[in-house]
Formats: sequence, C-alpha cells, structure tokens
Amino acid sequence: KAVVLATGGGGHLFTNTTNPSQSAGEGVSLAWKAGALIQDLEFIQFHPTSLNIEEADSFLISEAMRGFGAILRNADGEAFMEQYDDRKELAPRDIVARAIDDQLKKRGDKSVFLDVTHLDADEVKAHFPNIYEKCLSFGLDITQKWIPVVPAAHYVCGGIETDYDGRTSIEQLFACGETACTGVHGANRLASNSLLEALFFADKAVKKAAELIADLEFNENVPEWDESGTLNNSEWVLISHNREELKRVMWDYVGIVRSDLRLERALRRQTFLYEEVEDFYSRTRVTVPLCELRNLISIAYLIILSAMKRKESCGLHYNVDYEEHARGFNP
Ligand SMILES: Cc1cc2nc3c(=O)[nH]c(=O)nc-3n(C[C@H](O)[C@H](O)[C@H](O)COP(=O)(O)OP(=O)(O)OC[C@H]3O[C@@H](n4cnc5c(N)ncnc54)[C@H](O)[C@@H]3O)c2cc1C
Repeated sequence: KAVVLATGGGGHLFTNTTNPSQSAGEGVSLAWKAGALIQDLEFIQFHPTSLNIEEADSFLISEAMRGFGAILRNADGEAFMEQYDDRKELAPRDIVARAIDDQLKKRGDKSVFLDVTHLDADEVKAHFPNIYEKCLSFGLDITQKWIPVVPAAHYVCGGIETDYDGRTSIEQLFACGETACTGVHGANRLASNSLLEALFFADKAVKKAAELIADLEFNENVPEWDESGTLNNSEWVLISHNREELKRVMWDYVGIVRSDLRLERALRRQTFLYEEVEDFYSRTRVTVPLCELRNLISIAYLIILSAMKRKESCGLHYNVDYEEHARGFNP
C-alpha cells in the first residue's frame, strides 16, 4: 500500500568505513531503479579517525579525543595538522580527513597516529573507557602508544529526494533516515546531526504513510519469481571479487580527494563491472549477495555521475581541478 525505505547509509561502497555491514546504500539504488529522484550523492562524509587495526572492524575513534588534546602525527612523529589549518586538530572533519589523506598519499604510509600519551593516563581512561578497552583488547595501551588511524566513509548526506513528510517523487513511496535526502545536511553535515533524518523526519514520514493505508488497495497479483533457464553458478566467488574491486575503485578515485581524471577512470571501471555483473545476473540464479552487488554498482554509478556534474569544490565534494572555485564559494 505504501512503502517506506529506511535502509541507512552506504559506507560499504568504500574500502574503509565506520558503517555496519548492512550499510550498502540499497534503498537509493532501489528507488532510482523505480524512477525516483536522487539528490546530492556527491556529498559523502569521511570520518578522519577510524581505528586501523585489521581485526578492529569499523571502530571509530571519537573526535572528542582531539577535543581533549590528542595530537595527530605521521609515522615520523611529526604533528602535521598545523601545515593544513590554523585550528590544527580542531579543524572540521572534512579538513582533517583531507590532511590525513594527503599525508598518507605523499608518504605512502598505511596509517597516521593519534597520540594521547602526553595526557594524564587516568583521565584518558576515565573519559574514553570504551576506546581504551577496545584498543587494549588488541594489545594496544593507548596511554603508552599511539593509536593507528585512517579516514573512513561515514555518512551519505545525499539520497532519495524527499519533502519534509518523507514523500519521494513517486506516489506512495516514502524514505527516511540516512537513505533519504531532505537537504538538511547541505553539502557538509555537522557531526551528530543524523537524528534529524533518522528520528524527526522518520516520524513524519511514517505518520504520513500510515494516513494513506486505509484508502489504498494492495496488489495481490504479483507473479512468483521465475528462475527457469538460469544456472546455479559454480563461480559465486566472482561476486565477492567484484564487490572488493568496486570498493577499491570508489576509495581510490571517488573518495576524499577527487579529480576529473580520477572520476573518469572510476566511471570506466564501474561501467566494466556493470556489464560483467549484468551478464552474470542474466544467466544465474538470483541470490541476496548478487542483488546487493547490483545495487552497489548502481549507487556507485550515481555517486560518480553526481560528482562529475558538480563543477566546483563544495563542502564534502573536493575536486582538485576546482580548488579556485572552492575558495571563492560563498554559500
Ligand atoms: C560508528 C558510527 C557512529 C555514529 N555516531 C553518530 C552520533 O554520535 N550522532 C549522530 O547523530 N549520528 C551518528 N552516526 C550516524 C547515525 O548512526 C546513522 O546516520 C543512523 O543510524 C542512520 O539511521 P537509519 O535508520 O537511517 O539507518 P540504520 O540505523 O543503518 O538502519 C538501516 C536498517 O536497514 C536494514 N537494511 C539495509 N539494507 C536493507 C535491505 N536491502 N533490505 C532490508 N533491510 C535492509 C539494515 O539492516 C538496518 O537494520 C554514527 C554512525 C556510525 C557508523
């Protein structure tokens, strides 16, 4: 009768992410395939400091640590933030993430480090008990040693275009939470603002959808899925290979710092993956991982296209070919 999409963010389009494993941007892809308008997908927030220990799946090191006096250092111990912004560690997320990205690319390192060893150990433990315990579980005592961190995809500001009642451009299709784009985050979301879309607008969307239910007919003549003529492929591993490849492409070419050339490269590789996976899909029994992969490839396409269309650096979309424009940008 009425459908509400609430599938969350899309961090798993990128190699490094803070998001849970289900965050694959599928709502956006489904809505787009149904013909809904999609907005602002080029604005993806990267959190500067995600723990870079292999076993530590998507663990975020809170910004409060930098507020408390933590210093960002490269592998040589250099406190590098002053090269990038007068506010140093307290600069906004996008600036700190870009500074770290620059250090990693210039130096070829795998991590930068967050240093709290100069702070009072008892206060560090008292203020950040979860981070302290988590790191200790990997054998890292943060009061003694630096914390290895990297930026990671954190929040998708864009998504399915909705009005303030969660209505999309398709009748009876609603969206809320991170998959929706009400526009409240603009081009650069402030930290801790997701409750606006996840609670406030979600509440409005559900109430609006519920109003419709009494008056709508439900279509019960949906045919059973027909999988005749498809194969039970013995090459399912190709799905995970394609997925890893897509994440790598998005991380390398559509990540924190973009350029026209990188975006063109990304589009060529995405097109290749699209063709390969569509061919696989047309011959193969449908599975959840295969559907997820198709959706990931679609949303990757939309992000790349949105980024290519924006001929300026603005908020979370940073393209080195348009730096001058960024400085002149006046929101
Ligand atoms: C580590 C971390 C820390 C954060 N800290 C803060 C903070 O301090 N303050 C703040 O405001 N925000 C924070 N955020 C952002 C905030 O948590 C998210 O934006 C918010 O939870 C999104 O809510 P949601 O309901 O839209 O999606 P989710 O909470 O992600 O829920 C989406 C649901 O949809 C399901 N789903 C996904 N795809 C499908 C599918 N194809 N079919 C069926 N089900 C599907 C998922 O399994 C999941 O249950 C943080 C995010 C992370 C990752």
